[in-house]
Amino acid sequence: MLTEDQRWSQERSGAVLTIDLAAVQANYRLLAGRVGASACGAVLKAHGYGLGATYLAPAIFAAGCRHFFVAHLDEGLELRPHLDASATIYVLHGPFPGTEEVFAEHGLIPVLNSIEQINGWAGLAERRGARLPAILQVDTGMSRFGLSLDDLERLVTTGSRLERIALRYLMSHLACADEPAHPANAEQLAQFGAARRLLPGIPASLAASSGIFLGPRFHFDLVRPGAALYGVAPVTGAANPMRQVVRLQGKILQIRWIPEGAPVGYGGTYRAPACRRIATVPVGYADGFLRSAGDRGSAFLDEIELPIVGRISMDSITLDATDAPEERLCPGATVDLIGPRNPIDAVARAAGTIGYEILTSLGRRYHRRYLGGEPDNGAPWR
Ligand SMILES: *Cc1c(COP(=O)(O)O)cnc(C)c1O
Repeated sequence: MLTEDQRWSQERSGAVLTIDLAAVQANYRLLAGRVGASACGAVLKAHGYGLGATYLAPAIFAAGCRHFFVAHLDEGLELRPHLDASATIYVLHGPFPGTEEVFAEHGLIPVLNSIEQINGWAGLAERRGARLPAILQVDTGMSRFGLSLDDLERLVTTGSRLERIALRYLMSHLACADEPAHPANAEQLAQFGAARRLLPGIPASLAASSGIFLGPRFHFDLVRPGAALYGVAPVTGAANPMRQVVRLQGKILQIRWIPEGAPVGYGGTYRAPACRRIATVPVGYADGFLRSAGDRGSAFLDEIELPIVGRISMDSITLDATDAPEERLCPGATVDLIGPRNPIDAVARAAGTIGYEILTSLGRRYHRRYLGGEPDNGAPWR
C-alpha cells in the first residue's frame, strides 16, 4: 500500500524506477549456490550500484550474506547502522592517512592496498596495543590497487609490521573475467597462487561476479559479486542467468503527428521519412539516460517497440510511436525504458557502454519503489 505522499510522488514524477529486492535475493542465492563451501559476499559500492545500498543491504543480509564491500569510508559509515553487528563491512579503498581511527571506531575493516596503508594501519594497532583486522590486496595484473608481488615479498621477509595486523583475507581482482577464454585469467590465477605461497594459511578472495563463472579454481574462501546481484550479465556473449532487478517506466507527456521531413530534437539529426507520430517522455541525460543512446535505443509500450528518434535532451527523449495503437497512447501512459524487453545489458549496448554504467547513472528524479526483500522465514530484516 502506498502512503498519500508516495502516491503523489509517483503521480508527479516523469518516471518510476522499480527495484525488485526479491530478485536481488534470488540472485544472491544463485551465486552462493554456485560457490559451494566458499562464502559469498556482496559489493554495495556507489550506493549499491545506484540502487540504494541502505535498502539492498538488509535484504541481502536476510538472504544469508555476512560480508559486505563498499569503496569509500563514507559509504561504510552510511551502511553500518543498516546492518546487524554479525555483518562485516570491508572498505575496498582502505584509509587515507589520518582516517585509520574512524575505521577502527566504527568497526569497518579496511582493504590495505599499499605499503603506506599497511604502515598507517599497523601504526594504529601499535598505539592501541592490539592486532587490528584487515584484508591485504595484491595486484595480479591490473596495476590499479594492491601491492606488487615484489612489495609483498619484501614485506613478508623484512617486516614485522604484518604481525600487528590480523589478516582476514589475501585478495586480488580479475581484469578480464567476463571473457572466460581470455589468457589473463590463468595468468592472474598463477600470480595469485604465488602471492598466497608468501602468506601461507591466510584465507583468499579473488572472484567478483564474472570470476564466479570461471569455475571452482577461482572461488577460494570468499567471492565478491556486485553487478550480477543487480541483474547484469556476468559472462559476455552468454545467456544471462540472473534475474532482472530494475524496471524503469517513463511516462508519455505529449503525443503529436509530424509531417514527412520534419526534424526531431537538437541538431535535427532525425527527419521523419514519412508522416510520423512522436511521443515525448520527460527523462533525459540529466537522469542518467545516456545521450549516446540518441537515434539508437528503444522503449517498449508492452510488446510494441518505440525507437528513440533524435538526440536525447537533458530532460526528455522522443520516441517514434507510429506503430502503437491510438487508444494506448495518452499523456501519463508508461513505456519501459528498462524492462523485460530491453533489460540493462540491451540498454547498455544501445548506448555503447556496459550495464554497470547504466545502473550507476540512474537518476535522482525518478520515483523509486522497492518490492519484496523480506527474509524467507518472516523474521525482521535485522
Ligand atoms: C567492484 C568490485 C567488485 C564487484 O565487481 P562486480 O563485477 O560488480 O561483481 C569486487 N571486487 C572489487 C575489488 C571491486 O572493485
